[in-house]
Amino acid sequence: MGTPYCCPNCRTNRSRFNIIEQVAQPVRLDPQTGEIIEAFDGLSPGPFHTQYNGPDKRIQCGVCGLIEEERTFIKFGEK
Ligand SMILES: [Zn+2]
Repeated sequence: MGTPYCCPNCRTNRSRFNIIEQVAQPVRLDPQTGEIIEAFDGLSPGPFHTQYNGPDKRIQCGVCGLIEEERTFIKFGEK
């Protein structure tokens, strides 16, 4: 059971999309070199580190290239 998408920009595309999985990886970088000192794989990065709370995925229209949150495409898919 899927959810119909429709592109809010070109308004005709309902079938061709790129699903972009967004995986946030919390890391601590060396301030001088930018190298990763610590990667928190599945671990809590601690109380001073804001956790990613954005969407799991974004959608790109396969026709016009618009990238938006999935819910935007779902909202237009309902019409
Ligand atoms: Zn489009």
